[in-house]
Amino acid sequence: MILWKEIDVTTTVRIELKDVTAQVSATLTKSDVKNGTCYVYVPHTTAGVTINENADPDVVGDLLATLEELVPVQGDYRHVEGNSDAHMKASMMGFSQIIPIMEGKLALGTWQGIYFCEFDGPRKRKMLIGITG
Ligand code: ZN
Repeated sequence: MILWKEIDVTTTVRIELKDVTAQVSATLTKSDVKNGTCYVYVPHTTAGVTINENADPDVVGDLLATLEELVPVQGDYRHVEGNSDAHMKASMMGFSQIIPIMEGKLALGTWQGIYFCEFDGPRKRKMLIGITG
């Protein structure tokens, strides 16, 4: 059996990596699971989720700058909504992550954080957290 919880994520700018590790951890803490799997899923087409360094904020800055360089906002895109870059960037980051649960905690590496990736904000978004053990 898996327990899914939907949480709100509010983004404040067009492109942003928001650290949601505490929200995911809090969901795990409310469950009784000691060993298992945590799933994080983003049900959007212009936002995603990734895991990367949470110690040096320059890593997130470099990640966003590199995505911007690879997929500029303006380009020879056909999608009429004008947010094609956001769709591309979301697919590059992906829409789900799997984190092991060990001894009641997310088994993230020392420098790892979970980031909600906003590419067409600011918006009110949803994120699904699944806990199974
Ligand atoms: Zn679109």
